[in-house]
Amino acid sequence: MTVEFGNEGSRHEHGSRARQAVQRSRGAVATLAGVNADDVVFTSGATESNNMAILGLAEHGEATGKRHILSTQIEHKAVLEPLEALGKRGFEIELLRPNAGGWVEPEAVRAALRTDTLLVSVMHANNETGILQPIAEIAECLKNHSAFFHTDAAQTFGKSAADLNNNRIDLISASAHKFFGPKGIGALIMRKRGFERIPIRPLTFGGGQERGLRPGTLPVPLIVGMAKAAEIAIRDRTSRQQNCQAIRRDASQFVKQIGGLVHGDMSRCQSHIISFSVPGLDSEALLLTLKDLISFSNGSACTSARYQHSHVSVAMGLSNEAASGIVRLSWCHMTPQIPWNEAAERVKALM
Ligand code: PLP
Repeated sequence: MTVEFGNEGSRHEHGSRARQAVQRSRGAVATLAGVNADDVVFTSGATESNNMAILGLAEHGEATGKRHILSTQIEHKAVLEPLEALGKRGFEIELLRPNAGGWVEPEAVRAALRTDTLLVSVMHANNETGILQPIAEIAECLKNHSAFFHTDAAQTFGKSAADLNNNRIDLISASAHKFFGPKGIGALIMRKRGFERIPIRPLTFGGGQERGLRPGTLPVPLIVGMAKAAEIAIRDRTSRQQNCQAIRRDASQFVKQIGGLVHGDMSRCQSHIISFSVPGLDSEALLLTLKDLISFSNGSACTSARYQHSHVSVAMGLSNEAASGIVRLSWCHMTPQIPWNEAAERVKALM
């Protein structure tokens, strides 16, 4: 940021060093998803990647008469809103409902596929519940279908790689800050089908960077930061997961102690998140009483500064009232010791 100030698009020495740094970084990010370096397009994060994947396929859909898009009711707004935009443009958007465990049945995807299905977009893990979606099984359902398969992997990229390393997944959205890289940088992974590139059209136009798909001067320090985070994520994956699982055991115990009900199928949940409610207790009351001990969330941090009912909980079958009682605890491998007993005592005092 202060020493290597070259623009990777410049042909002089400084530019060349920046270019090499970007190339190395592209390789590191590609390794995380098991793709080639030239399948990686750097973006500002998963929001932009999702928009690019969804809106970028519209022209191809219109040209080929494929106007049906399958997705789910529990997607992040960064998927739901571009889908809504395509709906206004004449596409037919079908949003599948999850089961009570918070995941979409692969059979539901299979049953909804049509010959004119352009795109299937299913997130890898839900940002509110942590529930992993069965993307490997969905990929299997798509084996003999031409639809493009996109997954919003903002919550998993750099954490659980196995599912993403699947040739049937064409498009993967990622954000660096979710795996401890800088904020404001991410990628859209566009896995070629054989030698064929996914027919995404750019949403912005200008200097031709990123093969014209995402023009504009590349933020070299952010890209290098994302790659460093990717390398460390691969190196430390096991120990990070172990740390998170240990915290999860304590967190689950805490939820039990206060009579909480876990939301979603825990056998499919990521190891750093638990979503729950305490019957008869308002989520705001819980947040307030614990605010100096634990930073909780209700609603979705990414959606808005103000609380909104979670569309995810409602899709999972909860009433608006029950959904408003849900809180989410999430942590990482670096989360310090939490005074669970004191937290439990305070919550019990509210009842
Ligand atoms: N998709 C999911 C599942 C997310 O959790 C988030 C943010 O938390 C995003 C997309 C948006 O990511 P960003 O804000 O980095 O663009």
